[in-house]
Order: sequence, then C-alpha cells, then structure tokens
Amino acid sequence: MQLTGWVNNTADGVHIEISAEEEQAFAFYDNLLQKAPALSRVTQHVINKTATKVFSSFNIIHSTNSPTTDLMLTPDFAMCHQCKEELQEPGNRRYQYPFITCTHCGPRYSIASALPYDRQSTTMRPFKMCRQCEEEYKNISDRRFFSQTNSCPSCEITLKMFTNDGKEIAKESGGILKEVNRQLISGKIIAVKGIGGYLLLCDATNASAIKLLRQRKHRPTKPFAVMFANEDQVNEFALLGSQEKKCLTSSIAPVVLLKTKNNTGLALHDIAPSLKTIGAILPYAPLFEIITRQYGRPLVATSANISDSPIIYTESDALENLQGIADFIVTHNRQIVMPQDDSVIQITPQSNIPILIRRSRGMAPSYFNYKTNTPVTLLATGALMKSSITIQSKKNTYISQYMGNTHTLEAQVSYKKTLFHLLGILRLTPQHILTDKHPGYFSNQLAKELAHEYETSVTEVQHHKAHFAAVLAENDLLECMEPVLGVIWDGTGLGDDGQIWGGEFFKYEKHAMQRCYYFDYFPQLLGDKMAKEPRLSALAICSEIMGADRLLENKFTTAEWILYKKILQTGNVLLCSSAGRIFDAVASLLNLSDTQSYEGEAAMYLQTLAESYTHKNGYKINESYFLDGAHYYRLPTTTLFDGIVRDILKNKDTAFIAAKFHYSLIHIVSIIADNLGIRNIACSGGVFQNALLVDMMHQLLSSRYHVFFHKNLSPNDENISFGQMVYYDSNIDCIQAQDSKSVTIKNENICV
Ligand SMILES: [Zn+2]
Ligand SMILES: [Zn+2]
Repeated sequence: MQLTGWVNNTADGVHIEISAEEEQAFAFYDNLLQKAPALSRVTQHVINKTATKVFSSFNIIHSTNSPTTDLMLTPDFAMCHQCKEELQEPGNRRYQYPFITCTHCGPRYSIASALPYDRQSTTMRPFKMCRQCEEEYKNISDRRFFSQTNSCPSCEITLKMFTNDGKEIAKESGGILKEVNRQLISGKIIAVKGIGGYLLLCDATNASAIKLLRQRKHRPTKPFAVMFANEDQVNEFALLGSQEKKCLTSSIAPVVLLKTKNNTGLALHDIAPSLKTIGAILPYAPLFEIITRQYGRPLVATSANISDSPIIYTESDALENLQGIADFIVTHNRQIVMPQDDSVIQITPQSNIPILIRRSRGMAPSYFNYKTNTPVTLLATGALMKSSITIQSKKNTYISQYMGNTHTLEAQVSYKKTLFHLLGILRLTPQHILTDKHPGYFSNQLAKELAHEYETSVTEVQHHKAHFAAVLAENDLLECMEPVLGVIWDGTGLGDDGQIWGGEFFKYEKHAMQRCYYFDYFPQLLGDKMAKEPRLSALAICSEIMGADRLLENKFTTAEWILYKKILQTGNVLLCSSAGRIFDAVASLLNLSDTQSYEGEAAMYLQTLAESYTHKNGYKINESYFLDGAHYYRLPTTTLFDGIVRDILKNKDTAFIAAKFHYSLIHIVSIIADNLGIRNIACSGGVFQNALLVDMMHQLLSSRYHVFFHKNLSPNDENISFGQMVYYDSNIDCIQAQDSKSVTIKNENICV
C-alpha cells in the first residue's frame, strides 16, 4: 500500500507503526488480517492512533527482548509444496539439498532456544548465510524473506553418515544419500536424524529386515509406522479417504492410521501384527523426501529409542545408544533443542470423527481453544503414562508434546528438560501447581518439589475428573446451562475412595462434578501386573461366574491357578472399576490376548475382531448384555461377563460376541443418560481411542443425544495436564468448597 513505517517481532507479538490517513490505516489493518500468511494465527489484534511521525521508508526493525513473554509458540511445519518442487528441479540451486526450507515450512519449536523466534535464538545461529541466501533473506518479494532457517549448498547444513561402530563414512551429501539407498536395498536398518529426533528406517516390504528391527528394539508386536514417498504410493497400499488425505498432507504431517489393501507386498504381518490398519506418514522433512523418492518402496519409520525411553535426538546419544539397533546412523549439524515424536491421528471410518492418538510434532505446544479465568500462571504436571505438561499464563495455553511413560529415569530427565525449557522460553514462574492424586506418580512427586522451590502450593485433581474437565473445555461446555454426562473410561487412575477408578460416569452441572455411576468394582489382581496380562483381568472379573473357570484354567500353570484363586478368596486386594481392564478381560476370554507387549494391544485385537462383524452387519445389534430400559443403581460388571461367558459356552461366533460387547457399552451409556435425564454426553479416556466405539456411539446415539468427543487433544492421558488446569481454573469455587458443593461422597451413597 506504499505506506511508510516499521514492523518488529517482540515478546508480546508483532508491532507495526505506519504513517497514513485514518481511512488508509484502517484499510491496511483489514488487509493485514484478511491476507495474513497461511501459517499465521492471529489471536488478538488492536489498532491505535499515535502522534504524527514521518518515516522515509518501511523497515523491519530488529526484535527486542523484554522480561516477559506473551506469545504462542510456533510448531514445526512439514515441507511445503514449493520447496518440494524446487528440491526436484535440476538447475535449482537447492536441487536435492536435504535442508531446503522457506517461510512456509521447516522446523520452529524444535530448534528455538528463546523467544521471539529469530535466527539468533535458534540452532541456525552457527550457520552464516552465503551471499545469495542473504539476498533472498532481505528481499521482500522473495518466499525466503526473513526466513530464519534459510540455507543452501553453499552455506550448508552438513550431512554425515556413521557405521554402527562410530566410524564416519567420508562422503559428501549426494554420496551419503546413495549409500543410504544401497543399504536399505540390502535390508539394513538406518537411523536418520529428522525434525524431532532420529527415526529408524528399513524396507517395509522386507519381512526379515522388520523382524530384525523388532528383535533389536525388543518390540515384539507394537505396530510400526510406514513412510510413503507420496500420496500415490499410499493409495497403492492403503485406503485413503478425503479427510485422511487432508490430515496426511497438512503442515502437521502426522502418522495417519489407514485400513490396508490386501496383497500389496507390504510385510503387513510384521509391520502391524494381527491388525488391519497401518500408520502412514509422508516425508515431512526434505531429507526423508529424498530418501523415500530414491528408494521407491515404502519404509518402516519408527522413533529411534530404547524400549520405553524417549526419542533420541542428539548425535552423541545416537552414536552411543543406537549401536545395537541401527546398522548406520545418518546425522547432521543442525541441533535439535526440543525432541518430539511424530503426531498420530485416526479418522473414524463411518462418522469421520478425528481421534488424536498422540499430539506432538507439528501441533505442540500452542493450544488455542481455551479462555482462562485465573490471572495467575498455572502449571499442571499431568499423569504417569502418556505424560504432558500444561502451562496457562496471560490468556495463553501451552500444552507440551507427548512425553511418554515417566516410569524410566531417562523419561523423567526428558520431562524435566521440556518443563524447564518451556518455563524458560516463556519466562514464566508457576504461581500454582496442579497434579494427579496418585502419590506414586513422578508428576505428583515433581509437583510437590516444584511447589517447594517456587514457594507455592499444589492442588491434586482426581484423574477422571481431569479427563472430564478436559473434554468439557474442548467442547465449550463449561458454561453449559444443561447438565452433561461424562463417560470417562480408561485404564487406571486413583479414585477419591482410594480404589482404582476407570469405568466412570460423572454428572457436570453448574461447575460441580459428581461421580454418579461406575462399573462394579472387581479385584485388582497382582496390582500393576494386571494391566500387562489380560488373563488376570478375566480371572479377577469372572471368578464368581458360572462356567468361566473352564475358559480360563488353561491360561495358567497349576501353581499360578492355585495361588491367584487363593488371593482372590482372601479379598485382600485393591478394587478397580477400570474399563480398560474390562476390554482386556473380554479379549482374554475370546483368546485374543493373554499377555500384552504394549498398552492397548488386547483392546485393539478385540476392536479388530468386532469390526469384522460390524463391517458386514452394521452397528445395530439386537442383543445387549444389559437389559433394555433397566433402571440400574449400580453397573453390574458381572451381568456383562455372565452374558459373555454364556455366549462363548454356546459357541457363538467370537466376532459377534466382540461386537455385542461394544454395542452393550453404548447401550449402557444410553440407559444411564436416560436414568439421569441428561441429553449431553461427553467422552474421554484412553478407551475412546477405539474408532469402532466412537463410530458406534455417534451412529447409535446422536439422534437422541448430543455426543461430544475430544477435538484438538487425545482422549488418552495426554489430556490430563490440560484437564487438571481446567478443573482448577474454571471451578475455583467448587474446589474451595469441595465438602459442601462437590458432594462426591454423598452422591455415591445415593447411587450405590
Ligand atoms: Zn517451503
Ligand atoms: Zn546459501
């Protein structure tokens, strides 16, 4: 618009000063908002009149530092289509350059060590731009104008390759990429440094290479993601719907779960044992683009880590710890500050409902859909497995990337690193801390340590209430005038009564949350071991059910059988209402899984079996394990299992039983909603990663009820930190007056 003035990037956002007539100034303001760059996200804006000033031109002024920050953090963006074209364009000066980027793409969060985002505050700092790059950087009409990640082969980020005993293979970038191709053909496993950390790659059509990877990673059955060169290649191997395509090709570039086609040549049995879906991903970094294009066949692409530990992201760690796993290590000298795994998403096949399985690279850490009430800085430390951190400050919500299971020391170190990095980069000090009730969780212990350090206090939020608060907030239901039924089903969470909860129904009304129903308690046999062995769930739940012993006895040795029965008789165990364990028990009764090597394995097999029935017969099943219209005052877990055991003993089709089980759960939700006279149903907890359950729920219930699921967060424990924050932030009255208002205890007495 030929205006003069300046623009700069500061710790509370972008500031622009222009010299213009009022009308012209407003036209500029409108233009700016309407034509903002595609990747920008304007959360607030304002225009003010200043004293008259005269400028000779329009300039970008250097970023200034201030003591506080009021900014969202930008996630990492997948390679844009223009860079993708340039990468393949012979004669382009970045032809086959593995680190091509522009202002529309490239790493951000993973390389930023301070705010505002500027080359000097990123790990691009040591790279000096060559003359041509500098010219692009300064040219306002260039796509790389002010691109902080700008580099080219004349001022390059350098690729290096090592053998697994740490010897460097002396080759330039092109030679290394050819070597990678040669080694992949010969069935080798190669660790390649990506955006959030190292990925392990091997040929996805080579069963023995994948078997070797499983063996070396000590990962017997957990599915691997597959990286395809492009959309056409995905279509060759899997069914790609329009929603899925949109996700896959978005700037987030997540792993998207897809139904596989038959007889494709993929080593499916080794990639995703006993499942009919694969996690597909497209090359989001130019280095992967070159490798997959060159290779021409899909590649297994999985986070490089050692069993349960966090993803490896430094060269020294990779060289030290991937020796026994990868045959070669390909690395480069642009450092990663914030490690992140790939995000994972699924679109339900019938209702097209997105289910986030993991929110990480491309999404973390900014969250846009929450309006805060508390003026203080809040820190919520989350749960144990699938941990995350939420920070709330100055109307901004930050939810960290998925950080995995905080059982291991490495994971705890990485968790703390992320926490202090976020607090540091945002220049924040927590003024109140929220955490899970479970005193054994790392997140709980750390919350208490931090409270001491920051001289503040901690509020413990019950696990499933946090889940419910999270899904309420995601769907803007906190101020809902009508009551909402929370269906909160997951694996484990410490309950207010000291037992293990997980199959819960809450009522939310006017900022008060009440637990009103739950699956009848059953013994938590052998404590945490029960989550690893579905056969223990089956035994614990079915110990009193007629005929069940016949189905279960052969799953145990005689000594185990005698011992476990004895433990159950003494009754000296914690009790649990976990829906996750209920799924496990059904899977074990149907002989799908007696011991599982990863979380959710048994439930996934059960879902896959049920789908083989619903695929042919639809979702409406004329039988339920619960009585139609029954006015339950408690949820009889044994009624459910009594029916299942009978059906098995009658030799009914196992796929039918699996589907009927899913249907019965939906049925029970409708019975309870009717009992309570509630029309709004909000679902959270790891069980709702089950796409069949979500689809059935939507298809069977949405004509009579409003059914809500998570939108921008995962239903699993990744949402706990956000839920803890919301529970505190939006229910201050409720927490302070817990005895009189929240009436959890009183209500349970009424219902049980
Ligand atoms: Zn680009
Ligand atoms: Zn250059």
